[in-house]
Amino acid sequence: MARFNENFLELKESYLFSEVAKRVSAFKEKYPDRDVIRLGIGDVTLPLGKTVVQAMHAAADEMSSAETFRGYGPEQGYDFLRQAIAGHYRTFGVELDEDEIFVSDGAKSDTGNITDLFSRDNTVLIPDPVYPVYVDTNTMNGRNIVYINGTAENDFLPMPDSSVQADLIYICSPNNPTGACYNRSQLREWVDYALENDAVILFDSAYESFVSDDSLPHSIYEIDGAKKCAVEFCSLSKTAGFTGTRCGYTIVPKAITSVSSDGTEMSLNKMWNRRQTTKFNGVPYVVQRAAAAVFSDEGMKEAREMTACYMKNARIIADTMEELGIRYTGGINSPYIWFECPFGMDSWKFFDFMLEKAGVVGTPGAGFGKNGNNWFRLTAFNNAENTTEAMRRFRDLF
Ligand code: PLP
Repeated sequence: MARFNENFLELKESYLFSEVAKRVSAFKEKYPDRDVIRLGIGDVTLPLGKTVVQAMHAAADEMSSAETFRGYGPEQGYDFLRQAIAGHYRTFGVELDEDEIFVSDGAKSDTGNITDLFSRDNTVLIPDPVYPVYVDTNTMNGRNIVYINGTAENDFLPMPDSSVQADLIYICSPNNPTGACYNRSQLREWVDYALENDAVILFDSAYESFVSDDSLPHSIYEIDGAKKCAVEFCSLSKTAGFTGTRCGYTIVPKAITSVSSDGTEMSLNKMWNRRQTTKFNGVPYVVQRAAAAVFSDEGMKEAREMTACYMKNARIIADTMEELGIRYTGGINSPYIWFECPFGMDSWKFFDFMLEKAGVVGTPGAGFGKNGNNWFRLTAFNNAENTTEAMRRFRDLF
């Protein structure tokens, strides 16, 4: 008899967005004439840039002719895209070999798939609150998870704790949901901790393109020694509006090794290559051409313009928090604004209150971990008009 993976019994119901949708549709039924503004979405709203679409069209044309048609491509990604990604890293002062870059269909898949490389006996350190994929994928594998607390006291940037023994460490910076971003000296501490403890950092930089403060790192490899202890995941989803187009990249440096229980050393780069060539058949050629166009001068300019639009919205939300004296993080180097629920409410209560009184939808912090129980996430992924109107209604709550 085929028995199922009993670790699935340990997964918590993933009800955050379905519960939000349920409550919004109940509201709409009750008040069919009231308009609802959604600031809960973690999905981009602006279309792909012109340069990207032109590259996609040209690639689609290539696929229509026998001379230029492409079948299976390299599982790791085409050289033209790996070179473009290496060029992007050079702008942060990071040198990568092309065979350290693996093109993927996005950061969600790879932050989960990377768990294939590690023993089930490893202890995993995960910040709370955080993007739920890290917790769920490790739970599916039956790994022991320990949490470090992100709280207002540490500005939602928890630091290594010498009393905690961890083998794998997830860091997301700029963070979803808190928008908080580690600075160089904080990342230096994490890298030192990982090197001292033979741990591997799994660094999610999906929001690196929102980093506007030049003193903050875009990549963990801006910290010396990180190539010996960190794998980095990035994505074009938020950088260039690829949430539906699907393209990301994972960096597995050749300098990182891991050991087996009998002390045999393995290169994580070789293991990841083996994993990908076994289980993955690459990203579509058309999508990779579109992705490479993002890294062209014109493509990057268009991507930056999109980010600037979202950041204007973030500023509108953050200014409202300032004005009302509400504690918040994010909004400067991130499209997320994470604030303390007013009136002493918990996050689901505040969700209902804001929907009922203002017709504005956000995301309750409780969905990202216990430290989010009294916090709330708003996103910049709407247009300026709706964001301004939502904040006008938000002010009226006080
Ligand atoms: N990592 C973080 C922190 C995210 O918030 C998201 C998406 O919201 C992802 C990864 C997923 O990105 P992708 O669309 O590349 O799968």
